[in-house]
Amino acid sequence: MNVEANKIHHYPCSSCGADLLFEPRDGFLTCPYCGHKQAIPESTDPVKEQSYDQHLQIRPEQMAKLAVNALEVQCQSCGAKSIFTPPQVAGSCEFCGVQIVAQPKSADPIITPGGLLPFCITQQQASSSLRQWLSSRWFAPNDLKRFAQPEAIHGIYLPFWTYDTNTTTYYTGQRGEYYYVTETYYERDQQGRQVQRTRQVRHTRWYSASGTVTGRFDDVLIPATLSLPSNRLAALEPWDMTELRSYDPAFLSGFKAQRYQVDLQQGFELMRQVIAPAIESDVRSDIGGDEQMIESLSTAYSDVTFKHLLLPVYAGAYRYNGKLFQILVNGRTGEIQGERPYSFWKIALLVVSILIVVLIAGILFSNR
Ligand SMILES: [Zn+2]
Ligand SMILES: [Zn+2]
Repeated sequence: MNVEANKIHHYPCSSCGADLLFEPRDGFLTCPYCGHKQAIPESTDPVKEQSYDQHLQIRPEQMAKLAVNALEVQCQSCGAKSIFTPPQVAGSCEFCGVQIVAQPKSADPIITPGGLLPFCITQQQASSSLRQWLSSRWFAPNDLKRFAQPEAIHGIYLPFWTYDTNTTTYYTGQRGEYYYVTETYYERDQQGRQVQRTRQVRHTRWYSASGTVTGRFDDVLIPATLSLPSNRLAALEPWDMTELRSYDPAFLSGFKAQRYQVDLQQGFELMRQVIAPAIESDVRSDIGGDEQMIESLSTAYSDVTFKHLLLPVYAGAYRYNGKLFQILVNGRTGEIQGERPYSFWKIALLVVSILIVVLIAGILFSNR
């Protein structure tokens, strides 16, 4: 790396020379020593959609490092790769909790993010809401208190793809229409006499159906991380996407970013699965009738565009009784997503107390 390039993404404090860090409270680069503040230039262009087809043959010039001085390190335990800029250090892995021992190397180029949502919750705010969350969980074992320490969670940008696409779906199937037939049957009345009765019975008549439906999908959000369960990531939504900022390496100062583990094509396949139920429901309403059978369905995707986005979370992990527990805090809203182990002893104690109460109540009741 030449010295000139090194200057570009390095943010020294103009009054004391220390490294400026991104401050979630006001969105400024801030000196941790003298408090000097510097604005990150606001780009006026909206975060651009990029053509998906053109990116399928990615040329090297479309790839870049997140910052020229970006370092990358891979967790030896779970394989997650995180990217950061000095003076940030690798520290412990946000996803599995182990101390990362590998030496950071110069980061490999990636498809550069089009935009990101900057952190607006500070590490302190995230830690204190986490403490509250933990204390409201009575069954949590005392070991969980480790999460209450401020260094237990770290700010990291998670990678996402969003896709826009037009769809044209050709289908064949059957339309089922109900009709009713009056049937006669016999039964015994209360006096035991055989009587004749009638009832309406529903039948379905099927007609073959085929046709084409078109759809338009906008900004379908697909996580590009495999380090966290997708239901937990989905639970962090909604993200205030209207606040997206154009990517600037300055946002990375003091935070890490995870390198995408799901590539652009794999993300596209996931997007197809995500929108499939909506397409199927369009096909069903196009078939009409009371019931539908879909026999074949084929979808063409056109005008596909994508964005690579980074979204902010505070994340931490630790093992308890051999099981991995992950905690996530939305870096925009402070919302907490996580599971926690139940303490066997606390639950056992509660069960025993209930039994004693029942027993005493039983004794009192039998003595009356
Ligand atoms: Zn300073
Ligand atoms: Zn790990």
